[in-house]
Amino acid sequence: MALDLLVPAWPDAANRHGFRAPTRQPEPGGSSHPLLARQVHGTALIDVRPDDSSPVGEADGLISAIPGLAIAVATADCAPILLDSPSDGVAAALHAGWRGTLAGIVTDGIRHLKERHGIEPKSLRAALGPSIDGCCFEIEREIAEGFANRFGSRIWALWQERPAGKGTLDLRGVNTLALLDAGLAATAIERVGPCTFCGGDPWASYRRLGPSCGRQLNWIAPAAKG
Ligand SMILES: [Zn+2]
Repeated sequence: MALDLLVPAWPDAANRHGFRAPTRQPEPGGSSHPLLARQVHGTALIDVRPDDSSPVGEADGLISAIPGLAIAVATADCAPILLDSPSDGVAAALHAGWRGTLAGIVTDGIRHLKERHGIEPKSLRAALGPSIDGCCFEIEREIAEGFANRFGSRIWALWQERPAGKGTLDLRGVNTLALLDAGLAATAIERVGPCTFCGGDPWASYRRLGPSCGRQLNWIAPAAKG
């Protein structure tokens, strides 16, 4: 049976985190009901509070600075990005589809962690969970040109031209550029799990299965401040 819960990132982590396929039942314990937002493919971020309940509001990034209080983003092709600052006891979960990626969810998320929580980007580590990859993520070339305007000509190394004004883009690769630009170390960025489209079961893929495909739950709960 295929793995339906991926947690290979950060084996040393005192926090709890994972990328969970929709077929997987919630884990027992403190992380079984992570807080979720109403996701709108934007860049708004919310700092959760202990008395919050889901949905905490309209946002595509949640930040928890409360030990054990889990946050999550739900995805089915979009890239889920978990950020962890082990020494600060702060974690974030970002939802980065192509719209959010282009709008700067990663840049805004890391700026928020710096401005509101005093976290230096170089102390962060990031895990990008299962999402549709460059093998399968077909978009219009003009969208890719939008990415080139924001991230520079580097994105063409993540692009494969296809006929009729289309091509495929490595969305996790683009978000990796955004993480590097924001100041994370290359060694602190990890890609976890397969392409949701061609990786098949148990991972949900909106493009492969349609709107009723279920969603990955990508969650993290900060540990107490190290
Ligand atoms: Zn693929």
